Amino acid sequence: MTQHFKHFIEGAHTESSDAGRLELVNPVNEQVYATAASGTAQDVDRAVSAANFQLYGGAWSKLNGTHRAALLNQLANLVERDLELLADMDARAIGRSPMEPRMLDVPNAIANLRAAAGWATQLEGRTIPTDGYMGMRTLSYTVREPVGVVAAIVPWNAPLMITTWKVAALLAAGCTVVIKPSEETPQSALHLAALCQEAGFPDGVVNVVMGVGEVVGRALCAHPKVAKISFTGSPEAGATIQRVAAPLFKRVTLELGGKSPQIVFDDARFDDAVRGCAMGLFVNQGQVCAAGSRILVQKNIAQKFSEALAQAAKSVTVGDPSLAGVQMGPVAKKAQYERVNRYIRQGIAEGAELLAGGVSEPIQGWFVQPTIFSNANNEMSIAREEIFGPVGTVLTFETEDEAIELANDSSYGLAATVWTSNLERAHKVAGSMRVGAVGVNCWSPLDANLPWGGLKSSGIGREGGLPGALSYTEEKVISVLLP
Ligand code: NAD
Repeated sequence: MTQHFKHFIEGAHTESSDAGRLELVNPVNEQVYATAASGTAQDVDRAVSAANFQLYGGAWSKLNGTHRAALLNQLANLVERDLELLADMDARAIGRSPMEPRMLDVPNAIANLRAAAGWATQLEGRTIPTDGYMGMRTLSYTVREPVGVVAAIVPWNAPLMITTWKVAALLAAGCTVVIKPSEETPQSALHLAALCQEAGFPDGVVNVVMGVGEVVGRALCAHPKVAKISFTGSPEAGATIQRVAAPLFKRVTLELGGKSPQIVFDDARFDDAVRGCAMGLFVNQGQVCAAGSRILVQKNIAQKFSEALAQAAKSVTVGDPSLAGVQMGPVAKKAQYERVNRYIRQGIAEGAELLAGGVSEPIQGWFVQPTIFSNANNEMSIAREEIFGPVGTVLTFETEDEAIELANDSSYGLAATVWTSNLERAHKVAGSMRVGAVGVNCWSPLDANLPWGGLKSSGIGREGGLPGALSYTEEKVISVLLP
């Protein structure tokens, strides 16, 4: 029998008010493997009301930072207990090899919860000297209060990990949440919410409403009792969310797309740079916001480097990720398959040289071969636009200044990588990148204690580390007259 998933509202699994359902499709064989409740504005209202009650009067509102830290640590222990189960849920939903989420996503989720447990007692206010009030002395101090009910809207590419970027930090800050997972990947969010109940979080603190972005996501963003929207996804949806949230004065954090440069200088350790660039291109089928999909290579090594990268692409075994020896599964959904192939066709039509991969053969399953273009320029769509698939575009430069200019000539500003053995150059180039994070001789360093977020079309705000936890608080001033 096909599995069916229900919303998780106020600690109970419930159907949608109109009994609507979504189908979940396996990208390996294009077969429906489960269905999920597809929510309505009414379901959103029930979940937000439960979250609002816990925040302003329920058992959660009475817990202090020490209690919240204990609950977060217990949740981390339960996620660790269910590591394989959670990794397999996320892997199956998008056709990914389960090894990647077992090694990367779920350990990062556990680390996020443990790091946030540490912040729960550290969200301090300040005592601020002032000029007093009408000639009298005052004592002025600030306190950090939870921002309110949060809508956490999550994409499909790394569902559990991204959910915990939001949920760990907001729970540390004392907020409550309604999670809206993507249409394709609701299962790990539901399991996380059930683990919250098992850990002892009061019912209603963590809720999950599944469904279509334009319905459930929009209703959450417009709900008067939602104070903050924490969104990860495409720039297009991010812009819509800003428009909905603006007249309602909601706080908004946006983690959006990227077209991140990997700059390879001729003094880089060649094999490390090839391996690192390939990893930055092909992890999770290239469906990574920080994918290093613009490879900028110094001209004198460009041909040798492009050929080595193409060789690395050709050596990747693509197929059903449950089979031994397969390193790369299909892309996550039909729309993604069509999008990636459209860009590959466009790259060829624009005149870039195809060194590996190419347009997919129509077979069952949404498989795309790792693809490398060389001899491209920065005006081509394959150099400017986010493809979100295993496609890399090699561009060339001659000088350090040219590399910096080329890297920054992008509407995105999420991440960058610099491959060089020259320490001074590494710091100079890293300092010149207009992005949120730079890896030097390592692609996209992600850690629960580091802030993460982008500039320009890559978004607004930071998640992770102390800034991530503080973003779920409001700093309130209290001034006491001392006559
Ligand atoms: P998407 O924008 O289509 O969907 C993301 C989520 O938003 C889904 O849950 C969707 O249902 C919901 N949504 C869609 N329209 C909405 C609306 N009008 N109102 C409210 N919610 C709405 O993105 P996607 O295809 O799921 O994810 C891919 C994108 O996410 C890529 O651009 C990628 O770069 C980005 N991403 C960014 C980061 C980061 O940290 N910067 C991390 C992962 C993914």
